[in-house]
Amino acid sequence: MVRDEAILLRRFPYSESSLVARVFSRRYGKVGLLARGAHRPKSRFYCVLDHFDTLELEWRHQPGRELMELRRGDIKSRRAVIANDLETYRAGSVACELVDLACPTGQPDHGTWTRLSRCLDELATGARPAWEATVAFELGFLEEHGICPALERCAACGCDAPAPNPSEARACFSASCGGRLCQPCADEARDAGRRVGTMPLDVLDAASKLLRRSPEGERITPLDTPLLVRLKDFVERFLDHHLEVRTKARGEFLAVADRNTRAALRSPEHS
Ligand SMILES: [Zn+2]
Repeated sequence: MVRDEAILLRRFPYSESSLVARVFSRRYGKVGLLARGAHRPKSRFYCVLDHFDTLELEWRHQPGRELMELRRGDIKSRRAVIANDLETYRAGSVACELVDLACPTGQPDHGTWTRLSRCLDELATGARPAWEATVAFELGFLEEHGICPALERCAACGCDAPAPNPSEARACFSASCGGRLCQPCADEARDAGRRVGTMPLDVLDAASKLLRRSPEGERITPLDTPLLVRLKDFVERFLDHHLEVRTKARGEFLAVADRNTRAALRSPEHS
């Protein structure tokens, strides 16, 4: 039997009265648990397996099994307030959904655990605007998994990567080359047949600030909405490039053309 803190990622009914819960736990990563009788009002799990809370769970640990039996469940940190506001609720769901889709089962991932708990705390306390908390989580997730785009320097050679055209605040950028590029590396990548575009400097700068901001460290002022939407566009497209699965929410958000192209920035509805 093991006992661990966990956050519910998804739950679905199982047989007449039971529940299957996919949770992300601090020491065991993503695990599938069967809560027998959870739908019965007298069950010890009734009303425990809720979204966004930090739970204290005890289960019969059988590595390799798809479902393990949940034996005990308590709420350690209640964040029910997240569900009271639609935008906060969606932001929290996007963070949990990313962990559910992108983290392999049974693999401990302490960094992601810490970042997910922090994101949910920020949403519950309103420490920062909902979407800013999620975008910060997504960037942190990319960093945790070694696929965060280069934001400040060239992804290929590590040198400075200033805007090639001084009259335009845009740097060379290629998702498939790992992010921001200096002009010589961008030319080389293009010659090799890679897709290279450009990205506005304000988006790269905001992303790098958001990533550096630790809970104790420097606070950045909330981003203004148009910049936040473009930052979200940048991060979602990068996630989309790297992950094999696309969530419904991401699909809907990305149904709009890239919000960071020169053309989009010229049109008033996106800027
Ligand atoms: Zn370079």
